Amino acid sequence: MWRLLRPDAEAVLHDKKARKSLGRYFDVMQNAKPAKFQLAKKLPAEFSETDSTEKLWKLHDELTGAYYELEKHVDSRLKLFSELETPRKSFLDLKIEIARRIMENCHLCARRCGVNRWKGELGFCGCGVQITVSSFFAHMGEEPELVPSGTIFTLGCTMRCLHCQNWTISQWMEAGELYTPKQLARVIERLRSEGCRNVNLVGGEPTPWLQQWLETFSHVNVNVPVVWNSNSYYSEETAKLLAGFADVYLLDFKYGEGTCAERISAAPKYWENCTRNHLYAGKHGELIIRVLVLPEHLECCTKPILKWIAQNLGENTRTNVMFQYRPEWRAHEIPELRRRLTQSEMEKAVEYARRAGLKNFIT
Ligand code: SF4
Repeated sequence: MWRLLRPDAEAVLHDKKARKSLGRYFDVMQNAKPAKFQLAKKLPAEFSETDSTEKLWKLHDELTGAYYELEKHVDSRLKLFSELETPRKSFLDLKIEIARRIMENCHLCARRCGVNRWKGELGFCGCGVQITVSSFFAHMGEEPELVPSGTIFTLGCTMRCLHCQNWTISQWMEAGELYTPKQLARVIERLRSEGCRNVNLVGGEPTPWLQQWLETFSHVNVNVPVVWNSNSYYSEETAKLLAGFADVYLLDFKYGEGTCAERISAAPKYWENCTRNHLYAGKHGELIIRVLVLPEHLECCTKPILKWIAQNLGENTRTNVMFQYRPEWRAHEIPELRRRLTQSEMEKAVEYARRAGLKNFIT
């Protein structure tokens, strides 16, 4: 059915440019290689819950190197995944423990609220400790290589974009449904068995729920690529925990270096966090970048973003230049965001992508 709905999703399997940027993802999707979380479960991690956090980070840094060695050996079939033993405690368990501790003084995102979520304190995102789901389904509206995408929408967000299209989810306007990691693991297995190419963690924003996501995947028993679908406004600590977990980083790159991020999305230091996280993602996984073009933000945002991508991540970076902006929620509070894009703005954005030298962009 989805093949009929999205013939481009079939065609992309033979698209050389897409394969070049997302080669490992395609292999995991077709079960020719294990997803990163499956490999992370096989890497032994010797630690105790009484160890200091500093000690756990040191171990995590060492094991990140060991993880990528293991991935290289398994991918090149120097080691067989089926012959790897399951350790008593794994790299994935270590990530879960570190993420749990981060929530005691929450700095999962760049906002670094410092609240103890385990004691019932809530930070900017409003997220507690039990993952709250709005909906999940096989999403047909994502990039061709991703659909059908087993998308799980969770409540809460670390930014406050006044034009948010998912504002009922990001701003807790719905009650949502509480899930345990084991229940969510069964949801993921079902989505995969129904033909989804991946599991797509989105919201709102997945960052506040990182600990719960890591724990969920410790219970997942199928091979499925993990798509980390984020606003890119997460902390360096979160970036480290994502290495060896996220197969595809589907990252928004929303604003240029000026004050737009703060003015429109209440996100100070967006550029600094976003660029660091993109560099980290490019090094540790495969990347699709979404650049939502906003009316009258071509010069301050779209142009420098596209240039930065080409210069820092390479001309072949898979980049989706998006034209679907429409005024939603509180967009009327920002005068230039009260309308949709003009034809000339869309043409200009394509021109900027070409001039930046990007060779693998889609619109
Ligand atoms: S994830 Fe939520 S509580 Fe944690 S730092 Fe970010 S906004 Fe604050």
